[in-house]
Amino acid sequence: SLTTRLPKAGETILGHKFFVGFGGKGANQCVQSARLGAKTSLICKVGKDSFGNDYVDNLKKNGISTAFVGQTTDAATGTASIIVNSEGQNVIVIIPGANLLLNFEDLKRASDVICKAKVVVCQLEITPAVSLEALKMARASGAPALADLDPRFYTYSDIFCCNETEAEILTGIPVGNLEDAEKVGRMLLERGCKLVIVTLGAEGCMMISGDEPIPKHVPAGKVRAVDTTGAGDSFVGALAFYLAYYPNLSMEEMIRKSNCVASVSVQAPGTQSSYPYRKDLPQDLF
Ligand code: ADP
Repeated sequence: SLTTRLPKAGETILGHKFFVGFGGKGANQCVQSARLGAKTSLICKVGKDSFGNDYVDNLKKNGISTAFVGQTTDAATGTASIIVNSEGQNVIVIIPGANLLLNFEDLKRASDVICKAKVVVCQLEITPAVSLEALKMARASGAPALADLDPRFYTYSDIFCCNETEAEILTGIPVGNLEDAEKVGRMLLERGCKLVIVTLGAEGCMMISGDEPIPKHVPAGKVRAVDTTGAGDSFVGALAFYLAYYPNLSMEEMIRKSNCVASVSVQAPGTQSSYPYRKDLPQDLF
């Protein structure tokens, strides 16, 4: 909902625009990967309600397999209600709903896709133990944050990707510049990560790995950003695409290309609506 100012407790105010969009980190990342040409499958749970039905339709429209998108009558589809004022400040209420009902049984049913996938991406928007089990099944990933994250998340993932906010939640280090990101990277390597990427908005990314413990800054191109919501998911979706389809590129090159994709997404409004298709991108990205 768009309003001029945020309402106070107990207050009713008039807003000027309401709209419903699709989200969830996992779905966003899948959509970006699919738009670049990847074969994708989303493993999740939604409610047997109108939001859930629309959600499944949207995934199908984007060419994503919904074979493992469960619909339950025991909970409503997860939602996030967002109120934004004219200064761009927001208040958000997230209700995970059916997401929290995704369980080990569901993973077992999907074990074939999980084990055969070239890349498995986990986002921690489901029960952490279920995410961890998926990582164990796959032992190949890219993931986002939670304070007191089970340390096995670091060791079971090949790539650990977080933004500045998530980096602070995980390490307690506020990230305002490249040096801070490097500190986070070193700390997460110590916790058992093999490769750490910290996304830095307009500054691109910092990467550091056990093999190459000298941190590298991979800058993003200068663009006129209109809406950066969902940029991180565009980045992760693109990275998953490059990992699966261009495994011989260097990690730095994959990150550079993923920066390019994500920097296109910030030049259009919305989240999934801003994610570019392969045909609309510079062809030297492929
Ligand atoms: P999140 O959306 O999770 O907060 P970031 O803001 O760090 O993540 O953005 C993720 C990626 O999107 C960056 O690494 C970069 O590639 C791209 N990006 C974000 N904001 C901009 C910007 N203003 N200009 C260019 N690229 C951007």
